[in-house]
Amino acid sequence: MTDALSRLLADRDWLMADGATGTTLFNMGLQSGDAPELWNTDHPDRIRTLYRGAVDAGSDIFLTNSFGGTAARLKLHDAQSRVGELNRSAAELGREVADAAGRPVVVAGSMGPTGEIMAPMGPLTHETAVEMFHEQAEGLKEGGADVLWVETISAPEEYRAAAEAARLAQMPWVGTMSFDTAGRTMMGVTSSDMVTLVGKLDHKPLAFGANCGVGASDLLRTVLGFSAMGPEIPVVAKGNAGIPKYVDGHIHYDGTPELMGQYAVLARDSGAKIIGGCCGTTPEHLRSMRAALESTPHGPRPTLEQIAEQLGGFSSASDGTGDAPVAQRPRRRRRG
Ligand SMILES: [Zn+2]
Repeated sequence: MTDALSRLLADRDWLMADGATGTTLFNMGLQSGDAPELWNTDHPDRIRTLYRGAVDAGSDIFLTNSFGGTAARLKLHDAQSRVGELNRSAAELGREVADAAGRPVVVAGSMGPTGEIMAPMGPLTHETAVEMFHEQAEGLKEGGADVLWVETISAPEEYRAAAEAARLAQMPWVGTMSFDTAGRTMMGVTSSDMVTLVGKLDHKPLAFGANCGVGASDLLRTVLGFSAMGPEIPVVAKGNAGIPKYVDGHIHYDGTPELMGQYAVLARDSGAKIIGGCCGTTPEHLRSMRAALESTPHGPRPTLEQIAEQLGGFSSASDGTGDAPVAQRPRRRRRG
């Protein structure tokens, strides 16, 4: 396989992904409740600016503006008939920016969760989920995405459906989950569960890992959990810029560029090969991350204490693996 991401992974010790899409678009005037994907055709210049922001800050990989581009999500905006068009434009604009970068930059076709609960707990069947992801994947492929990038997934069933869709579209893919509930995903998946899940897939991702969640510290604890399992596939760390705080009616992330630089180095030392940011991560944060990664030699794997000391404490006492199953059970039942 000679896709662009595999080539970069083979050539380099680490790769830098991008930062926030939502945060950046809100700063450009997107209103909460609007579908960001509509901007791919309504405001293509703003989407080019979003992509260029990441590329100019040193990202080797950036995600397309298509996180909510499945029919299930677009239906909320009565745009379910435009899946092909909106995903294709997201990738075409990305292709344009990446090809003008003057160095290899990977266009990753972002695919977020459908927003529906999957069977057996909810109404969304495996077949329908595969069909929706496949429709989106074909649009991204047609627009020139190098790789599909599935993120913020909570349910193992949905991760498997996305893998199946990538296989049908004959596309390489990357898939990350969001560990936002005391070290687990909302559907109860732990870091070690995810390594096992990925290992059993027929169409394996080129890389897997964690994105978003709570703060950068929690995300690195999850990455250490992946590394402890000795995974064969490269690990992705895409953490938020600090901890989300509600200030004057909007969400503010308290992580400074300096802090995100430290986070990037700790992520690499924790075993991540692809390092980026998620919510709150601006091009300024990315620049600081790139500089820190380039100027700091590889160090030993950090301890949880070192992570907490540099980035702040964890949101929960445990990462959800191992010794707290009794405390977890009632919570999972309630969410189901
Ligand atoms: Zn996020």
